[in-house]
Amino acid sequence: APGSAVPEDALRQEYQQLIDEVRKHRAAYYLEDAPLVSDAEFDLLYSRLELIEAQHPAIVANDSPTQEVGGEVSAAFSPVEHLSRMYSLEDVFSLEEVTAWGRKTEANAALRAAGHELKWLCEVKIDGLAVNLLYRHGKLVRAATRGDGATGEDVTHNVLTIKVIPTQLAGEDWPEEVEVRGEIFIPSADFTSYNEALIEAGKAPLANPRNAAAGSLRQKDPAETAKRPLKMFVHGFGVRQGLEAKTQSETYGLMESWGLPVSPYSRVVGTLDEVLSFIKDNGEHRHDLLHEIDGIVVKADSFEIQRNLGFTSRVPRWAVAYKYPPEEVNTVLRDIQVQV
Ligand code: NAD
Repeated sequence: APGSAVPEDALRQEYQQLIDEVRKHRAAYYLEDAPLVSDAEFDLLYSRLELIEAQHPAIVANDSPTQEVGGEVSAAFSPVEHLSRMYSLEDVFSLEEVTAWGRKTEANAALRAAGHELKWLCEVKIDGLAVNLLYRHGKLVRAATRGDGATGEDVTHNVLTIKVIPTQLAGEDWPEEVEVRGEIFIPSADFTSYNEALIEAGKAPLANPRNAAAGSLRQKDPAETAKRPLKMFVHGFGVRQGLEAKTQSETYGLMESWGLPVSPYSRVVGTLDEVLSFIKDNGEHRHDLLHEIDGIVVKADSFEIQRNLGFTSRVPRWAVAYKYPPEEVNTVLRDIQVQV
């Protein structure tokens, strides 16, 4: 077997160490909004863990971090059970892997047999934190973080302070009960000016937009959240019974008509070549966007295809996240004490 030259004990030891490390970093990232290492360093640890598991399937622990959605739920917030599960995304780090994933999806026997038309919905991967908004009869009744996918943290009072999130949906064609999912973020320009104001006031600046967004949303005092320049773009949904749409992109159109903030950067394309162009174009212009991105998400646009492909315990099989290579970190902020 591959890797069989490695002594069993040493391998198990490394495996357990990696699991402990990944858990520790997830807790710092999700509970404290204060990561101990960069995302690229975290991704390396995680990839190593995945590699060991792929090469030694017998070793895989039931509770391995690779088998679960990574978020943690802090005891500081009330737990909320999502009506339908929230998932993470499968990461890939090269264009070859994107193409391989796309070809595999195109070749999927079940889809071919049913004669589906496969279109790719290309989106930017917003570097913020996921939120689940539950609307009943058009009224926002609850907002929660993703947490472990089944249970999130209740952040309703904080979300109610975010102006771009409607408390009442417009129009009338929304389902009686709908879970709207999106990413909460701080726009790059607002992040810069917010930090300048903090520094001017003699306070510690925020470390980076992603952790600042997470820390801002997860404040104990909603009045504090209200001071932070938080925005949201929709990128998915949970329960939506009765929704009359055949594709995810069409649903974004509906959501926009209900007054929800929809990303201006999504595009539906027909070929994998166009997917790759979308990735390259946005990579060149990534700092010209409204917010930070850490990659591109490619999704099968059709709901029927999504249903056919389904989910693993952690990710949808109908989507993939391409991660851009890491950039140099912002050295200006590195040595400054950082608050969340
Ligand atoms: P992920 O962030 O790679 O992907 C899933 C998430 O992407 C979704 O939950 C959603 O919130 C978000 N997303 C943004 N734009 C989207 C779009 N257009 N469509 C759909 N989803 C979109 O996975 P994850 O499980 O949330 O966490 C892993 C990430 O967190 C990695 O980037 C990892 O590096 C980072 N992380 C870092 C540390 C650290 O210590 N630095 C620790 C844990 C996790």
